[in-house]
Amino acid sequence: MIMLHEDGEAAKDPARSASWVVYVDLDAYYVSCEVRERPELVGKEVIVGPPPEGGTTRGVVLSASYEARRHGVHSAMPVQAAARLAPEAIWIPPDFAKYERVAGEVRDLLRKFSAEVIPLSIDEAALLLGAVGADEARAVAEEVQRALRRELDLPASLGVSTSRTVAKMATDRAKPGGILVVRPLEVAEFLAPLPVRAIPGVGPKTDSILEAMGVRTIGELAGRRPRDLERVLGSFGRELLLLARGTPVERREMESGPRVRSSDHTFERDSTSWEEIVPVLDRMGEDLGRSLAREGYRYGGVSVAFRWGDFSRSQHGSVLPGAGEGPAALREAARRWGKELWDRSGSAGPRSVRTISVRAERLVPRNRRQALLEEFEAPVTRR
Ligand SMILES: [Mg+2]
Repeated sequence: MIMLHEDGEAAKDPARSASWVVYVDLDAYYVSCEVRERPELVGKEVIVGPPPEGGTTRGVVLSASYEARRHGVHSAMPVQAAARLAPEAIWIPPDFAKYERVAGEVRDLLRKFSAEVIPLSIDEAALLLGAVGADEARAVAEEVQRALRRELDLPASLGVSTSRTVAKMATDRAKPGGILVVRPLEVAEFLAPLPVRAIPGVGPKTDSILEAMGVRTIGELAGRRPRDLERVLGSFGRELLLLARGTPVERREMESGPRVRSSDHTFERDSTSWEEIVPVLDRMGEDLGRSLAREGYRYGGVSVAFRWGDFSRSQHGSVLPGAGEGPAALREAARRWGKELWDRSGSAGPRSVRTISVRAERLVPRNRRQALLEEFEAPVTRR
């Protein structure tokens, strides 16, 4: 497998072969949507929620600026309590249509950085990057943060790790305005001092069950026996233990076998020459096809993505007319889609390629016939 990364990590480092996730969480989202239209509010105590004047007794704070949070105001707090803590605060009634519209702009921007953007709420999303290496994943996160600021005037915090759960937890620790990278070998150490409540999915109920067992931090959780946790929390207990010990299980991967397999190559210096790119594409396609054949997989689609010198990303691919098998068909498809990307970029002026990804999609075990037609019908992402 071609995995030449510029960060010089040892080939066996799990940071290199693991699949990376950049988790994005916009800071004080509703407030930020308002402040970007009214610059005079920058740095002020701003609260989005039903204004308390006129003796309103109902309603809660929806979003508070960090300046207001310094007084103890937080979202979901009753407006009267917030008004007592921050009497000088400027109140803005919520405009949900605006927040939805801006969220759409954010998603469009994020899709420039990854073909797989998973929106998780109005102001949070996970970008799946594949096996790009830690330094590359951090560079993408930095560029995403800069682009959100520059193009949409929105502040964001980002967490970078090899599991979505850990990336989200890193994001929470990076707030506001930070970026935190947690490499695979650092996961257990990063989590140990955190309270178990910091784990997404652990609510007051699980928290009190764990507390009754004498477990307050994730480090304490890591020291427990699997069967003790399973007895009180079922399979969730085992998942929590794996996370606490630094090997989180992604739910999606648990439920289905591999559906896609990809390979990445980052040039030591961004490449500006198609002659330099072709042999790399060929080798990537062949290696990927050969390793899939060895494992007994056929593939129903192939796509190629280029991450350009400016960190934007383009992808092209298609579903194959029949399931492909072995290295030749994959090499040909990789070269075809790579050429298409390259030619298309030429009209926009000369560009440089930083990273190439080749992806085999719709994997099916060789011994299984094409059981579900739909597996071959859904269009491969084109952009
Ligand atoms: Mg947020």
